[in-house]
Amino acid sequence: MVFNIDMKTILIPIVLGNVFIIIYIMAYRFDHKKDKSINVFAASKVLQLISWSLVALRGAIPNPMSISIANSIALLGVSLESIAILMLINAFEKNIKTIYVFLTIVMIFIFNCITVFYNVENIRISVISIFIVLLIAFPGFCLMKNKNSSTLQRIMGSLYYLVIVLLIFRAFIAISSYKYMNPFIKGIYQTGPLTLISMLMMLEITSTGFVILSKEQIDLELVKLASIDELTGILNRRTFIAGAKRSIAYFVKKKEPISFLLIDIDNFKTINDTYGHNIGDITLRDFADKTKEQLREYDLFGRYGGDEFAILLLGSDENDSDKIAERIRKIIEESLINEYVTIKYTVSVGIISMIPDGKTDIAMLYKSSDNALYKAKSNGRNCVVRTNLNIL
Ligand code: GH3
Ligand code: MG
Repeated sequence: MVFNIDMKTILIPIVLGNVFIIIYIMAYRFDHKKDKSINVFAASKVLQLISWSLVALRGAIPNPMSISIANSIALLGVSLESIAILMLINAFEKNIKTIYVFLTIVMIFIFNCITVFYNVENIRISVISIFIVLLIAFPGFCLMKNKNSSTLQRIMGSLYYLVIVLLIFRAFIAISSYKYMNPFIKGIYQTGPLTLISMLMMLEITSTGFVILSKEQIDLELVKLASIDELTGILNRRTFIAGAKRSIAYFVKKKEPISFLLIDIDNFKTINDTYGHNIGDITLRDFADKTKEQLREYDLFGRYGGDEFAILLLGSDENDSDKIAERIRKIIEESLINEYVTIKYTVSVGIISMIPDGKTDIAMLYKSSDNALYKAKSNGRNCVVRTNLNIL
């Protein structure tokens, strides 16, 4: 019969599977000690291994004790695994931590009360199943809810939901067969082990998911680090140019205008020389923050290098871009930086607008706006100078 599966036999691959997952994770941890989520995940797997080993040894050690310890440890393990996933996807906030600690303690307490005062197997199965549902529901939800969730996150989230359905099913058949004990229910009850096994297999699959998800998060972090200017948090030159190329190609098709602004801080060397490099850095950050506030989400803003910044305004013609450039210039002119000294600074802007065609490229836009910027500097700085391609 399909349903006659010996649980003890099934426990062997589960225990062995856990042992190997732990070996892999420990090996990874050896080189990545700072990664906290992997530490929590490793701890959860060790607890789960202990719990499964106790289940496998049932009979060899006194039964009530093994049930109580194995299930308490299992709850703690599932709780830690959920926490590890939440940490990995940056959803583990302080109040969530409090809720998990509280929930886990209460669950272990209730479970042990049941074992001591009302030790009926079916009740225990139902209770533990529902407790696990409560613990894994939140990471499952977090994996799915985000608009930017990766495909991997969605698949893992779906798997969690599936496990939740199976657990609820398991809790239901355990309770029903206890209450009614009729032949029909007994038939369903026989599917219990099968449900349990498929559920466990899926939980094991989430371990693989965790490891790949962890790599995915590291990759994302690396891409972010490689595309952002460390000091100001805006795009670096390389990413700005790559993004600008894509946007220009799109606007060639759309036949709509774009504007390129090159902005340079006036007499920045003097700020550095007078107040020190640190205040120079603060000035660069201040400029980036204030300018970003003036732009729309889809405009591109990057640091070209030193005190030189570029903006690509998408869909903005001469009129629009004049307004934006003038607004940025004015805001910088009128604001102060209040650190241990008070600083005032200004910027000069070179600007060019056009409806791009197949020949438009970033090098050309940069060269034209740089010419305009040079003029702005010659005109006494703190001003916006426009150019167009014919002047070149
Ligand atoms: P101008 O008005 O003609 O632009 O004069 P300027 O003094 O601003 O001249 P320039 O733009 O050539 O000066 C750039 C200076 O920016 C030179 C360099 O030491 C400084 N610099 C470049 N990168 C950084 C940085 O990351 N932090 C700080 N504090 N200074 C930087
Ligand atoms: Mg400068």
